[in-house]
Amino acid sequence: MKKVKSFTSQLVSFSKSIYGNNFIPLHRPVFEGNEKNYLIDCIDSNFVSSVGKKVTEFELKIAEFTDSKYAIATVNGTAALHAAIQLAGVKRGDEVLTQAVTFIATCNALSYSGAEPIFIDVDEDTMGMSPNSLKIFLESNAKIVNGETINKKTGKRIAACVPMHTFGIPCRIKDIQSVCDEWNLSLIEDCAESLGSYVNKIHTGKFGETAILSFNGNKLITTGGGGMIITDDENLAIHAKHMTTTSKVPHPFEFVHDEVGYNYRMPNLNAALGCAQMERLEEFLIIKTNVAEQWNDFLSNSDVKFIKPLDGDTANNWLNTIMLDSKPERDYFLEHTNKSGVMTRPIWTLMSKLEMFKHCQNDGLKNSVKLEERIVNIPSSVPDGALSKIKN
Ligand SMILES: *Cc1c(COP(=O)(O)O)cnc(C)c1O
Repeated sequence: MKKVKSFTSQLVSFSKSIYGNNFIPLHRPVFEGNEKNYLIDCIDSNFVSSVGKKVTEFELKIAEFTDSKYAIATVNGTAALHAAIQLAGVKRGDEVLTQAVTFIATCNALSYSGAEPIFIDVDEDTMGMSPNSLKIFLESNAKIVNGETINKKTGKRIAACVPMHTFGIPCRIKDIQSVCDEWNLSLIEDCAESLGSYVNKIHTGKFGETAILSFNGNKLITTGGGGMIITDDENLAIHAKHMTTTSKVPHPFEFVHDEVGYNYRMPNLNAALGCAQMERLEEFLIIKTNVAEQWNDFLSNSDVKFIKPLDGDTANNWLNTIMLDSKPERDYFLEHTNKSGVMTRPIWTLMSKLEMFKHCQNDGLKNSVKLEERIVNIPSSVPDGALSKIKN
């Protein structure tokens, strides 16, 4: 305990050397570009809702940045996930493989489609789904019948796999992709936290049939609330746009809808914010790399592990992450940093422990349990004034 006490007070001082002496949030949004101008343009044009130029412009910017052929904007990341799961043909009563180490949105979206999660363990180094655990689970629990993957225990169809790139650290997505190919599973990447994260120079989200992004207020860039589906598949893209705009059949005046659709389209006002944020994204990423390097230097003088991407991969450094030695040390650290005005946060309670999901199948979750007790996020915002400095 003595070690964690001195580490905690050193980390508080170091946080203040990066961010100053006021309360330090974990991650704050930065609006120092064209946000206000574009919002005013929207209001002046009367196009504030889901028809408008900014939505298309924001979609094109995201498609270009992620090197995706198509991008479809939605009201939030959860809606994007729900739509992506529907697009994958997941049906009521199906099962979907995912990780217990994730934000609740991943599992909520599965539930909206009437599917149940199966929780696969994560790798300790990436905090994302372990391809090895995925393979072992499928080999011992599943069989392929008429091209469909069936869970031998429940008799249900396993329809898809939804891994997540935790805090912007890419998981071993290529290996996950190979396992999914072998087992005929649709792969949907939850990239809500990984805009600007790359696997060998390829943007995360390019490995699944579809992937989703989130632009909630605490994410790397924000539209207030917002999300995006990205894909290279033209048919999925057309269907995604159709489904998220109430499935209305195009017609000059008739209202005909050809399937149950959703009002999930992002409003122009939110997209206006997104367009302005995209103009600063490269700078945010450079500044956040610099902050992560400072944390890395500080932490290399301690016994505490700083979580870094695998060799060859690039993280967006959305939330900097450390691993403490034990739960009591973690609890001491959380209590004292937050009391000192330095916001820190534990990783999520495992999905497999929550009331709604605790009956769901899992593979033992050895690493997930270890991470849940030890992982903490430390301040990660773009520091005040950093954007104007980088310009000069
Ligand atoms: C933020 C987030 C989402 C989507 O959240 P919204 O708030 O609905 O935009 C989904 N999955 C993960 C892992 C997230 O962190």
